[in-house]
Amino acid sequence: MSEQSRRTDQSRAVTVLGSTGSIGVSTLDVLARHPDRFHIAALSGFTQVERLFEQCRRYRPSLAVMADASAARRLRTLLSQAGLDIEVAEGEGGLERAATAPSDIVMAAIVGAAGLAPTLAAVRAGKRVLIANKEPLVMCGHLFIEEAARSGAELLPIDSEHNAVFQCLPPDHRTGQRDPGVRRILLTCSGGPFRNTPQSELAAVTPEQACAHPNWSMGRKISVDSATLMNKGLELIEACWLFGVAPDDVEIVIHPQSVIHSMVEYDDGSVLAQMGNPDMRTPIAHALGWPERISSGVSPLDLVEVARLEFERPDFSRFPALGLAAQAARSGGTSPAILNAANEIAVGAFLDRRIGFLDISRVIQAVMEAVPSNGADDLAMILDADRRGRDAAFTTIETMRPDSAARGMH
Ligand code: NAD
Ligand code: MG
Repeated sequence: MSEQSRRTDQSRAVTVLGSTGSIGVSTLDVLARHPDRFHIAALSGFTQVERLFEQCRRYRPSLAVMADASAARRLRTLLSQAGLDIEVAEGEGGLERAATAPSDIVMAAIVGAAGLAPTLAAVRAGKRVLIANKEPLVMCGHLFIEEAARSGAELLPIDSEHNAVFQCLPPDHRTGQRDPGVRRILLTCSGGPFRNTPQSELAAVTPEQACAHPNWSMGRKISVDSATLMNKGLELIEACWLFGVAPDDVEIVIHPQSVIHSMVEYDDGSVLAQMGNPDMRTPIAHALGWPERISSGVSPLDLVEVARLEFERPDFSRFPALGLAAQAARSGGTSPAILNAANEIAVGAFLDRRIGFLDISRVIQAVMEAVPSNGADDLAMILDADRRGRDAAFTTIETMRPDSAARGMH
């Protein structure tokens, strides 16, 4: 699909922010199945130079961005040695350039708050924005909805649950506005790798165990979020913004098979579900092709093979992150941004083996208690809350270290 000669007038230009990550690679896999429909405008990565170089070689974007400046220098060298004339940009400015460069579709697949500025820039530029990067929506979903209304950008959810809900809503439904006939949204949750792990064993689980998700293969940060169930908490907040519902209109249901990706319950008692094998290429293909259906490479769902679909209520005592997120959703203002900031720092510390698994929620709780929530009217207030949340999380982790070591973590 890389060659210029294959580009037709109908071909849509796609930028993939975070192309070197799990969602980025799945997106390129789907795009490569449709060489006449799509071509690549820009790609971005953080530090994985070799992977971005290979992607440049294969997909020939006009622009390649490395968020890290020394990685950008190495990429320039590799591209010029290979005789490839592809412009390389770097840093936040480079990411924003990629987000706003001439293209029809932007896949937002950077992890964490680092994706906020470029994703918002793509929305302001009026693109079709495919939102995998949930953290910016958690921090300030209202700004995304308002900016999209202003610019005419289309926001299409990639998170499998939100994509499922989107598919179960009426076709004329507009993102950010509640459909009056909707009674509840049922977000399904696999339960993660520790669904049945006794509380007494959770303190000693390792990053490797936390990242070994039973159903989904994902980046390390979201894998840990799925193990603490913070991922579902972030998704609750994400759903409130995307579908214009209140936190109490969203119910979380544990569904270990990950075949039903979420459901919408209507006032007449109907419950619509979207099903499929757990493979992110389905929601990615759905949003790339929308409103048309395009192939994704995902194998057909064999319900007889699945045989059984089970449902349970979540255990808020073993997974306190879920309750903390629900509380932040109800408090509103900058609470979700503070929660997200504390979680990003705590997950990073856990992955670096500086704190234990149970400390993740302890850090978040301490930060939520220490940092007051304000109004979240504009981006400056959100970024200030993000910074205060991070600072408080670092301080909390410093004071916790001896305690975690005493729990036999290291
Ligand atoms: P990943 O860690 O595999 O990839 C992250 C991407 O972001 C990489 O390209 C990386 O280079 C880039 N990146 C990281 N830090 C950066 C920074 N500071 N500046 C610029 N770029 C940076 O993560 P992933 O699993 O692909 O997840 C990406 C986003 O999609 C996350 O927000 C996640 O919650 C969401 N998501 C992922 C899945 C999944 O199945 N992986 C499902 C639903 C939602
Ligand atoms: Mg999800």
